[in-house]
Amino acid sequence: MTAARYDCSQCPGYCCSYSRISVTSYDIERLARHFSLAPAVARRRFTYHYTAGGVDEWVLRHHKDHVYKSICRFFDRDERRCTVYEARPGVCRKYPYGNRCGYFDFLKFEREQQGDDDFIPSA
Ligand code: SF4
Ligand code: SF4
Repeated sequence: MTAARYDCSQCPGYCCSYSRISVTSYDIERLARHFSLAPAVARRRFTYHYTAGGVDEWVLRHHKDHVYKSICRFFDRDERRCTVYEARPGVCRKYPYGNRCGYFDFLKFEREQQGDDDFIPSA
């Protein structure tokens, strides 16, 4: 795969603000190990059960955020980074599924237009 054409360190973490970040039992076990918790405790503490419209999944809990409305509970809202990077779920490891991130392209374009490297457009 060619080198990534996005830079998460320059981004306020848009992908971590997705409302439904779905995790597997394996992801929960990995998080449980990371925090030295029983998997059942980690599941209850870090996720909730989402069922609607035929969807049945365990989703990471959020907390409020000053940039996006809310963001993954593991996201450091001041440093704008993941606090469980080594233990992050599989979906976070795979995203954005290639060497480009659509949001980063958008962010870069808007910052160039505004002439402001810190500009954060509303998504
Ligand atoms: S939205 Fe894209 S650039 Fe921003 S943190 Fe996620 S993957 Fe990185
Ligand atoms: S676990 Fe980390 S990478 Fe995944 S959504 Fe939460 S803060 Fe982002």
